[in-house]
Amino acid sequence: MKAPDFRYHRPTTVEEAIALLADAGDDGKVIAGGQSLVPIMNMRLAEPETLVDLTGVDELRTGSKTPSGACYGATTTHMMFEYELVPDVTRGLLPHAAAGIGYPAIRNRGTVGGSLAHSDSSAEWPTVMAALDAAVHVRSVRGARTVPVRELLLGFFTTALEPDELITEVEVPGLAPTARWGMYKMCRKPGEFAESLAVALGEAEPDGPWREVELWLGAAADRPLRLNSTEEAVRGEAFADLLPDRLVAPLAADLGQDLSAIDPTGRHALQLHAVTVQRALQSAERGDTA
Ligand SMILES: Cc1cc2nc3c(=O)[nH]c(=O)nc-3n(C[C@H](O)[C@H](O)[C@H](O)COP(=O)(O)OP(=O)(O)OC[C@H]3O[C@@H](n4cnc5c(N)ncnc54)[C@H](O)[C@@H]3O)c2cc1C
Repeated sequence: MKAPDFRYHRPTTVEEAIALLADAGDDGKVIAGGQSLVPIMNMRLAEPETLVDLTGVDELRTGSKTPSGACYGATTTHMMFEYELVPDVTRGLLPHAAAGIGYPAIRNRGTVGGSLAHSDSSAEWPTVMAALDAAVHVRSVRGARTVPVRELLLGFFTTALEPDELITEVEVPGLAPTARWGMYKMCRKPGEFAESLAVALGEAEPDGPWREVELWLGAAADRPLRLNSTEEAVRGEAFADLLPDRLVAPLAADLGQDLSAIDPTGRHALQLHAVTVQRALQSAERGDTA
């Protein structure tokens, strides 16, 4: 199947783009890399009458450091993060996450703003940007606002964006020199979306004990999930000998699941998540992904 007909605009400024979006109303959509939207249109799951293509808006494809971290234009591609064509302020987490997204062709066109606006909890950027407490800058003809990623992602393919709003930038706080991170993506073969995706972020002295650890899980719910019970269960521990089985009960609590009533499929998924969280923690402790 192919997409139905649509009107196509390729503005060169943000001002023009938001004016076109406002004119299009509920029937308009932004297209960035097209790596999610085009397949959806071809399957006729989305039938926008107007597409506003962002690839001609150069001001959206930039990245620069700020006093507290960095700001990336919404159409910064996954590959630009992977090859550090934009500055990294996360001690390697952003390039590592980007390198795990799909295939080179996908990474060459897919954008950070598109991934966040698409809000697929199996995708890398929603979980990584939520873990980093990033925020998006949003513009429309009605004005500008800043939305933390944790508040932007409302559920499967659902965000807090209004139809006329455009993500213009993603602002990422920098990680402290003592910060450690680990990330682990479980998928059946490279290039696929995650079946489970864990990010561990923590503070520690060089070679010293963990002071704090924050855990985020993707591909487990309708949006990235902070694992409060699991964090509590591992607080103050070293992770080298941590076994996934220890994480199953706190993970079930984080996912709101009753372990005594869970079916084998649910149990299998829980076990996968326990392994990704264990590997993210151990990788953070070893510092081998940074
Ligand atoms: C085969 C395949 C494998 C993939 N594997 C992975 C993977 O392993 N991990 C992963 O994370 N992703 C994966 N993806 C998805 C890919 O990363 C997409 O690039 C990404 O999800 C969407 O980015 P995009 O720029 O292509 O957005 P588009 O497809 O252009 O748009 C997606 C949605 O976001 C909206 N949008 C886009 N930009 C903006 C903006 N600036 N402001 C407001 N709304 C906007 C669009 O209107 C649309 O609704 C895969 C895709 C394919 C086709």
